Amino acid sequence: MRPQMILAGNWKMNGLTADLEEVTRLAATTAEMAGEVGIVICPPATLLSRVSDVLKPAGMASGGQNCHIAVKGAHTGDISAQMLKDAGATYVIIGHSERRTDHGETDGRVRTKAELTMSEGLVPIICVGETLKERENGVAITVVEHQLTGSVPAADKGADIVIAYEPVWAIGTGRVPTNQDIADMHKAIRTWLEAHYGSKGSDIAILYGGSLKPDNADEILAVENVNGGLVGGASLKAEDFSKIIAAGQRVQTIRRAAAT
Ligand code: PEP
Repeated sequence: MRPQMILAGNWKMNGLTADLEEVTRLAATTAEMAGEVGIVICPPATLLSRVSDVLKPAGMASGGQNCHIAVKGAHTGDISAQMLKDAGATYVIIGHSERRTDHGETDGRVRTKAELTMSEGLVPIICVGETLKERENGVAITVVEHQLTGSVPAADKGADIVIAYEPVWAIGTGRVPTNQDIADMHKAIRTWLEAHYGSKGSDIAILYGGSLKPDNADEILAVENVNGGLVGGASLKAEDFSKIIAAGQRVQTIRRAAAT
């Protein structure tokens, strides 16, 4: 079973060799939390194997940011799930809204990629989320349920997936939904997962993503059915990301105590 609190950093198209220092710093400052919470960095593919080499000995994981729909072949400039695995990845972000927008990724492609990554032994982090217009029109939950129906692999492919709820309008903007809106959406996603996977749907981590920062992490991560975060900008600096990880650990400790 995956850890019930996962903090995953999405570096997007950021990061050069010099930035590996941040990974080393992160591993040093958060190593003692790594058993209790899942800590993941998804760097650009150029840094993946070097990031994996730093994180693995510290009990942390790395991930890719996308993969091709095919296993291998004549696809210049693309990267396969198998290559990500070979470079040390455990996770792959699939269907991020920037890829849905910039590369026209449909739900169907997202599902095919997710199934492919699972067959390669990787865990897909499948992203869903509504636009501002959809939120304002009151259809956010319907839109996300529709994305889940189109993007999540068939139940017979196994349930080793992670979902990231990322409202498009909250990504990189400093705006976040209310805690109640996050709770309502995560509850709707949980209900959908349980209908799709049965009892296994209760154990799937649902991450929140979109302007998660050190100063709002305690509050957001404590929302019911929030099992971690997918973090963009604030994952680039070890100092910021380690504060978010510490917030996740605090929430996890409180939940564990409440469960005993
Ligand atoms: C993201 O792009 O996955 C993301 C959550 O970005 P940010 O944290 O910068 O809003």
